[in-house]
Amino acid sequence: MQVHRGHLIHLTGKPTVSDSPQALISLPDGALAVDDSGRIVFSGAFDDLPAELSSAETVDHRPGFLLPGFIDTHVHFPQTYSGDAYGGGQLLEWLNSCIFPSESRFADTDFAATAAADFCDRRIRAGTTAAVVFGSAFPHAQDALFTETRRRGLRIVSGRGIQTVGPDSATALITSEDDAIRLTREEIDKWHAADTGDPATALLHVAVVPRFSLSVTRQTLEKLGELYESVRDRGVYFHTHLNENNRPGTGEVDTTKAVYEVDSYLDTYDGKFLAGSKVGGRSLLGPRSILAHCVHCTDAELARMAETGTSISHCPTSQQFLGSGTMPWKRTVASGVNISIGTDFGGGDEWLIPQVLADSFKVHISEAGDAGVSLHPAELLFMGTVGGARALDMEDRIGNLDAGREADFLVIDPAGWSPLSGAIDRGTRSSEPDLATHQTLFALLMSVREPAISQVYVQGRRIDNR
Ligand SMILES: [Zn+2]
Repeated sequence: MQVHRGHLIHLTGKPTVSDSPQALISLPDGALAVDDSGRIVFSGAFDDLPAELSSAETVDHRPGFLLPGFIDTHVHFPQTYSGDAYGGGQLLEWLNSCIFPSESRFADTDFAATAAADFCDRRIRAGTTAAVVFGSAFPHAQDALFTETRRRGLRIVSGRGIQTVGPDSATALITSEDDAIRLTREEIDKWHAADTGDPATALLHVAVVPRFSLSVTRQTLEKLGELYESVRDRGVYFHTHLNENNRPGTGEVDTTKAVYEVDSYLDTYDGKFLAGSKVGGRSLLGPRSILAHCVHCTDAELARMAETGTSISHCPTSQQFLGSGTMPWKRTVASGVNISIGTDFGGGDEWLIPQVLADSFKVHISEAGDAGVSLHPAELLFMGTVGGARALDMEDRIGNLDAGREADFLVIDPAGWSPLSGAIDRGTRSSEPDLATHQTLFALLMSVREPAISQVYVQGRRIDNR
């Protein structure tokens, strides 16, 4: 048993993004008691710590903050070294000229192993305790990623990136239809819940991950639908991209609709991938399905995602880097679909979830006219924590610091980053207590950088982040 004392901040219960301001807990002298199995047994004010816990070893992190670990629901392992890639243009050109060649380098076993170690380092430095990781096409690279992730004690959902068609620059990443299915099935059998044998307790999880509809065919989508249906009850995930680039005629959305002759892009993942959006196979949507971007969804697509429990990974940093536009905040929230947040590194150029939340604040306050909105800091925290846990269908395990959850948390020490300590110690605060609390959380999320994330815990175990 260990007690951590500090400024406790999290969203209690299971709020929606809109309810999150009412769920915000901020206890300047808070305590988190974690038992030897890594579960939170007490969460609250230090003065309310039960007598039976008062003799437990106490680590005093004050004036540090205790926050839930960040959850990045969309990040690309084979793009570990591809951030800030110049010379690509928008999405499809950037893929062809920058990304496919860089991802092809993971064919080299040593290169992939080095990348797996660097990828884990960057996650830990950024306090990303759980991540949905878009994987490499190469099974040896995925083996390296899962092995290293397990060694470090991090949570992961990942699957090899599936491509069965593509341009010449993607040749090394493309497999036959049969191999695409075989390799995906083998990865599930090898790595899904490999650490504990039970998805309900595991840190390692596998997803079925076609890059996007343009990298596969109707045949691939039909076979993946069959495969996914056969492993749904084992807690396997589905992850891909949706509605990212809408350049008229030549962008991703129009090209997908033209190639598949469908009414909407989402139909291709919903089993309706035949011409005229006719049903050709099983749907890939559901409560463990996470679709990155969703910038240009129709109301019908948003409603279908909400209906099926599918989640969005919102990636505003990447959307700015690739000129993809801005997910309409009010319309997306109104649909009821769950919204989590993703760095989309290397489409994005940031590993740190709070920096992506900061970009989210900036793009939504800049939406035109009545669509513009000043997000509440609790809504930002929601996307980086509770929304991510919900996207992972792990809301009973992680995402906040309620008693009973697994203890995935961070210590943020403002002294590690002087712009943060300045904003916390000398920033102006309202005389109204609730607003002052919201101002402090906002300053924390906007100003924190990796050097201030001083300790990282997953299931109560401290992970070396230096
Ligand atoms: Zn992506």
